[in-house]
Parts: sequence; structure tokens; C-alpha cells
Amino acid sequence: MVSKSLDHIFLVSFPAQGHVNPLLRLGKLLASKGLLVTFSTTEATGKQMRKASDITDEATPLGDGFIRFEFFEDGWDEDEPRRQLDPDQYLLQLELVGKQAIPRMIMKNAEQGRPVSCLINNPFIPWVTDVAESLGLPSAMLWVQSCSCFAAYYHYYHGTVPFPDKEHPDIDVQLPCMPLLKYDEVPSFLHPATSYPFLTKAILGQYKNLDKPISILMETFEELESELIKHMSEIFPIKTVGPLFRNPRAPKTTVHGDLLKADDCIEWLDTKPPSSVVYVSFGSVVSLKQDQWNEIAYGLLNSGVSFLLVMKPRHKDAGHDLVVLPDGFLEKAGYNCKLVRWSPQEEVLAHPSVACFVTHCGWNSSMEALTSGIPVVAFPQWGDQVTNAKYLVDIFKVGVRLCRGEAENELITRDEIEKCLLEATVGPKVLEMKQNALKWKKAAEAAVAEGGSSDRNVQSFVDAVKRISI
Ligand code: UDP
Repeated sequence: MVSKSLDHIFLVSFPAQGHVNPLLRLGKLLASKGLLVTFSTTEATGKQMRKASDITDEATPLGDGFIRFEFFEDGWDEDEPRRQLDPDQYLLQLELVGKQAIPRMIMKNAEQGRPVSCLINNPFIPWVTDVAESLGLPSAMLWVQSCSCFAAYYHYYHGTVPFPDKEHPDIDVQLPCMPLLKYDEVPSFLHPATSYPFLTKAILGQYKNLDKPISILMETFEELESELIKHMSEIFPIKTVGPLFRNPRAPKTTVHGDLLKADDCIEWLDTKPPSSVVYVSFGSVVSLKQDQWNEIAYGLLNSGVSFLLVMKPRHKDAGHDLVVLPDGFLEKAGYNCKLVRWSPQEEVLAHPSVACFVTHCGWNSSMEALTSGIPVVAFPQWGDQVTNAKYLVDIFKVGVRLCRGEAENELITRDEIEKCLLEATVGPKVLEMKQNALKWKKAAEAAVAEGGSSDRNVQSFVDAVKRISI
């Protein structure tokens, strides 16, 4: 039974895996510190979460608080494949329905004795801040990318320095407290040649009302991007709270944010020698073409490594090409290969058999690799992934880079893939990359340990919410 005296935080997530995971992780951490937390996203995403995780209609006790779930319809007919819709149109529709649904949910909570003290949203739905304002409530934002990408978008939005444009598409960009970014290391949505102008609009839309949140919580930690975080904190009320995954201060629970049920692969990993397996996963959104899958398959096979390969099911009605592994591939790979549709990535990266991670460099995956002490082979495709790859390889020095810029239309060959795999598993730089990865793992652990930088920031946010609601 939820105690009615607990302060209540209402989280609203954009319906995508890379948004749900960090916001739910934050929610669990806040609940453990004695708050009632409601996690909310669209009904369709909620359905997927219910299927893949232990989410019930009851509030789940967590540490000193509780977490519960409420979902809202995003306004699209169930029979209409969502992702086929024009994304601009979807974002608009989500805003229209969300602006009505969320106030209704908040008011109902108040009527039922659970008044909300604060709203928290993540990127792509900046209008949640306006909803909070209209209800007279404070709000915060959880930024789910690096501080470097936050800064790059900020400087682009305000035009403080020249970025590549149609006349000068190849210029490098120097931003304060950041390394020089080559034109293909700037978040690709800011490049004139991007194939995703609607995402440029969505991500920059976030900067319109960034003066309103009481805090901008960030899934990073001070030691990782220290100078830049200090600099950006002079402009915004930033509180770094990461890494949010595997946080020792959050109690263990089977409530998680997977949108697909993970296949078992831990038993297979258990049979493999320490540091012998390459984990290959491109996150939830990247959709590689058949040609590229063929090259990846043969690159893996020719390198002779053992590998755990995630091949997320693709749906034709979502506008994706169906892809398959080459004929006879699984027979040739034999016990060297474990193929899954979705993996329990947190557990996989913690497994002693995993040697390195071939990743698309989404920020969640990048943070999960860094804070697990696992070197990477960076295979970025677009957006912030290209900037994350730059940092993983050149700044954090935990990996090798397989491609650059918006790589979707470029074919990375099996020979290049094999070369990188060998470099990351048996090459002369392996020891150095592993040592660096372990250094970041230790720094991450210190940040979230009692009294660490992120732990202090989470506590001061909780204290601020409690003060406001008195
Ligand atoms: N993930 C997972 N199993 C998989 C692939 C991904 O649990 O097989 C999780 C991963 O741990 C991460 C999220 O899905 O938390 C993907 O987020 P990321 O930012 O890396 O990439 P996106 O999917 O947003 O491109």
C-alpha cells in the first residue's frame, strides 16, 4: 500500500527504448530514496513493457519508496503501423494528445490522494515542461545523451560558432571545452547532408524552453566530461546522475524497461573462457541493410572469434527491409556463435567471458560499455552515435573505430570488420584499451557510490523536490 505522505514524481518518457531505459532507471533510483514515482509513456510502448518485464498495475515497493506505471494513448489507431507515419506528424500528434492526457492523469492522481510534486521528461517531448508550468508544477529534464552532444546542439541552436553548412560541408568545429570535431564527428543531425532533418528539428526543439526546468539531469558523470560539465553548468542547472544502470544504490528488481523479452544467452556465455567473446549489438533503432549484414557475418566468421550476435526482428510494415544471415552461416559458425533477437545487455556486459562490444555507440550502450570496463569496436550510424564514437576512441581511448559520419549508405567490408575485430581482441593495443576501460569503470563506480558526485546530485535533487512540495 502506497503511503499517501510520499512526495510524488511523475515521469514522462518518449516512446523509444533508448529513452525508456535511462528514465526508468532514474525513476527506480528516486523511488529507492523515499519517493513515489509514476513512470508514464504511450500505451503501445506500455504494452511492450508489460510483455517483456514484471510490470503490474500495483505500485512496486523499492527501497524507501514505490514505483508505479500509467500509460496514455498516443492517438494512433492500433491497426495503423506507427512507424510508417511521417515522423514529423507523429511528434505533433504525440504533443497534441499528450498535452491533454498528462494533465488529466496528474489531476486524477491528486483526486486519489497522490498529488504530483514534479514532472520529469526526456528529449523529443519538451512540451511536458509547458504542461508542468500550466499546472503550476516544477519540472526537470533527463538528458539521455552525453554532455558533449548537449553542448554541440546548444551551440548550433544559438549559432555561437560556424557548423558545416551547404557551402562549407567539410569544416571542423571547435566548441568550448571540447576536442576539435571533424565535420563527420559533429552529431550528424547537425550536418547539412543528414538524412534525418525531422530529428534535427525534434532535438533542437528541446532548446526552446530549457530555461524552465529546475534541473537538467544528465546520464553522464562529472569525471567523464569534467571540464565541459563545469562550463555548461554555468549556463544550465545541470546535475550529472549517471551511470544510471546497475546503480548499487537502487535495489534489485525485476521491473525493467525492455520492450522485447531478452533471449537467454548467459548459459552459452558461461561455457566460454574469460575475455573470449565479442558481443555485437546495434541497439533498438539502427536498421542495417542486407549487404551490410553479409559483410558483418563474414567479418565475424573470418576473424575466428566467438561472438554473441543480436539481430533484432524487423517488420516490413515498419518500413524496414527484412534481413537474414547468409546461407549456411550458422552451420559454419557452429558453437562459436550465439544468435539472439534481444539480449539482457546489462548482464552480458558484466559477464567475464565478454572481451569487447561491437556497438552502434548509442549513448546508453556507450555508457554501459564504459562503466562495465569493456572495450568497443565503434560502428556508429548517425546522430549522436558519431560523436560518441569519437569520444570512445580518441578521448576515452577504449576502442577502435570501424566507420565515421552517417555511415548508413557506405558499405563497411568484411576485411575492414575482421581487421578491427582482431585489433580489439588480440592486437597490440588490447591491454591499453582494457586498462582504460577499467579506469572508467572505477570512476563510474565512485561517482554513484555513497557520497560520489552523481550520488550527491541525485540526493540534492530529491531534497529540492521535497523542499518545493512542503
Ligand atoms: N539493449 C538491450 N538488449 C539488446 C540491445 C540493446 O538491452 O539486445 C538496450 C541497451 O542496454 C541500451 C538500449 O537497449 O540500454 C539501447 O539504447 P542506446 O542508447 O544504446 O541505443 P538506441 O537503441 O537508442 O539506438
